[in-house]
Amino acid sequence: MGGSAVVVGGGIGGLAAAIGLRRIGWEVTVVERARTLADVGAGISLHANGIRALDVLGVGEAVRAAARRQYTGGTRTPGGGWLARMDGAVLERELGTPIVGIPRAELHRLLREALPAGCLVVGTEVKSVDCPDPGRVRVPFADGVLEADLVVAADGVDSRLRGRLFPGHPGPVYGGSTVLRAISEQPVPLRTDFELTWGRGAEFGHIAFTDGRAEWHAVLNAPPGTRYADPLAEMRRRFGGWHDPIPALLDATRPDAVLHHDIRELATPLPAFTADRIALLGDAAHAMTPNLGQGACQALEDAATLAAALATEPTVASALARYDAERRPRSQSVARAARQAGRMGQRLSHPLAVALRNTGLRLAPSGVTVRAILRHADWVPPSLG
Ligand code: FAD
Repeated sequence: MGGSAVVVGGGIGGLAAAIGLRRIGWEVTVVERARTLADVGAGISLHANGIRALDVLGVGEAVRAAARRQYTGGTRTPGGGWLARMDGAVLERELGTPIVGIPRAELHRLLREALPAGCLVVGTEVKSVDCPDPGRVRVPFADGVLEADLVVAADGVDSRLRGRLFPGHPGPVYGGSTVLRAISEQPVPLRTDFELTWGRGAEFGHIAFTDGRAEWHAVLNAPPGTRYADPLAEMRRRFGGWHDPIPALLDATRPDAVLHHDIRELATPLPAFTADRIALLGDAAHAMTPNLGQGACQALEDAATLAAALATEPTVASALARYDAERRPRSQSVARAARQAGRMGQRLSHPLAVALRNTGLRLAPSGVTVRAILRHADWVPPSLG
């Protein structure tokens, strides 16, 4: 079954969806509101499920080559003691790949390069879609209208299209934490590939890249909309006394490189990921808290699954039904698990609860962390037919 699609949104999810659709022979136009297509954000970690989805899309090798395998790391206390260590080699043995870390801009560039330039339309905001007859969908925008067999709404956590399809849905809510992050200006001597350090209602983490630079992120319980006059100075005040290499990572950061966002999620699960000829994908469908590092991985799974369903089902309607049936339970359960991981990890602030958690983690048999990761990362990718 060939066809044509308009993908709304040129983030990781939208670009991956476009790549998948083109691989099964569909004509695709990606419409992106921003004038330049470059993902903002610092770094990203991809679990085996995300990499396997990228393999289905034909870009896994390119991403592996540009990413750093995260073999060593784990969770620490602010004083530097280890709560849990992780061995990426075990993940590699079980899943074929450990977690990998890559600058977001690099991942975005690799996805863009897998698409012909002509299929990306930038600086164009989609405000609505309509279905004039059962088999078609129209996407009007400032300079005209596009018609297609399918619209993929990959327009992010604030998805306008989701709001139109499910007007009664409450939309995203504040997850209780705010996140500051940056990529170091120059390489930083690091003993591990990645770390998470949990204080009380605060987390600091890093992901190392192939060139020796690293992304760091700091997550803090805070009222929504909290902002700091000098974000880097605030990070030094909050985290400067934590263990190495945290002060070194902050020292290697330019003040204007620090990004600051509030964490939002779709706490109320959507009743469907599809309506008429429209499929919601990525954060538009299941924005989750970042505590499991699975948001983009789930968007990549969405993209591979949608392409496989369209390649193998007899009609667009049956493909969309399969996409909804395969993706909604899985991504919504990962979102629940991410929220739970946040509650037990970074968000926990009561001293007694923190002490109990830390004791539990120290006493837990080795391999618990690996098993928790395997639970979400051991996803069997679909075939494109
Ligand atoms: P977006 O990246 O939000 O893209 C949506 C695009 O749509 C944007 O380009 C936007 O400009 C465009 N758009 C919006 N509205 C319109 C419109 N009306 N018309 C046209 N275009 C429009 N995930 C992981 O897998 N691993 C991690 O390590 C990880 N770390 C994270 C750390 C943090 C702090 C956060 C906040 C998230 C993290 N995530 C991680 C989650 C991941 O970033 C997201 O799940 C992923 O980027 C979602 O991609 P998307 O394409 O669905 O949405």
